[in-house]
Amino acid sequence: MSDLIKLTNVTKNYRRGKEEINIFTGLNLTIPKGDFVAIMGPSGSGKTTLLNLLGGTDRCDRGEIVFDGEHIEAYSEGQLAAWRARNVGFVFQFYNLMPVLNAAQNVELPLMLTSLPVKKRRENVATALKIVDLSDRAKHRPKELSGGQQQRVAIARAIVSDPKLMLCDEPTGDLDRASANEILSTLQLLNRELGKTIIMVTHDPEAARFATRTLHLDKGHFVEAIS
Ligand code: ADP
Ligand code: MG
Repeated sequence: MSDLIKLTNVTKNYRRGKEEINIFTGLNLTIPKGDFVAIMGPSGSGKTTLLNLLGGTDRCDRGEIVFDGEHIEAYSEGQLAAWRARNVGFVFQFYNLMPVLNAAQNVELPLMLTSLPVKKRRENVATALKIVDLSDRAKHRPKELSGGQQQRVAIARAIVSDPKLMLCDEPTGDLDRASANEILSTLQLLNRELGKTIIMVTHDPEAARFATRTLHLDKGHFVEAIS
C-alpha cells in the first residue's frame, strides 16, 4: 500500500511574545492510503496541532510534510487553501455547523467556493446526506437535530468534496455512547467502503477500537502504549 502522508523531521514551535513553546522536534509519521488511525494522548500533548499540520491549517517550522507526493510544507497560503479544499475534510468535537442554515445548506458550504454547477452541487449534497443516513433531515436546522445527527451533518459536510483524508478531532467527545457508536460506525464505513484515510483524535479507548491502529502521543512524541 502506498503512503498518503509522510512527515519527516517535523519541528513545530509556537511563539507567544518572547516565549517560544516547542510542540514537536523531529517528528516522523507515515500514514498509508486507506489507514484509519486513532490518536490518543493527554491534554496538551499536541494532538490538535498535529491534525492542523496534517490538514494544512497550521504550518511547521522545519521538516517535510508530503501528501500524495505533494510537498505541502512548501506551499503558499493560497496553494495550501486550494489543496485543503480538494483533499481534506475536518470534523470537530462541537460540530461547528452554521445555526441559521439547514442541514443541506451546511453540507453545501464547502462547494460554494468551487466552480461546480448548482445542479451538481445539489446532487453531491444529497449523496453526502444519504451516506450519513440523514436524507430525511435535509431541511432541519442544527437546533432541530440531536447531537449525533448534527455530527452526521458535519461528516456529510466533510465528505461532500470527496476528500482523500478526513481529520476528526474528538468527534464523539460530546456524545452519549449510542450516538458515539453510530458516528464511529459511519467513519468505519467511510474508511472501508469509500477508502477514506481517517485520522481521529480521541480520549475514548472504545472509540479507538473502531480504528485499525492507535498511536499514543505524549509531550510531542509517539510512545508505546502503557498497558
Ligand atoms: P492537545 O490537542 O493534545 O490537547 P494541542 O495541540 O492543542 O494539544 O496543544 C499542544 C500545546 O501547544 C499546548 O501546550 C498548547 O497550550 C499549545 N498551543 C496550541 N495552540 C497554540 C497557539 N496557537 N499558540 C500558542 N500555543 C499553542
Ligand atoms: Mg486538542
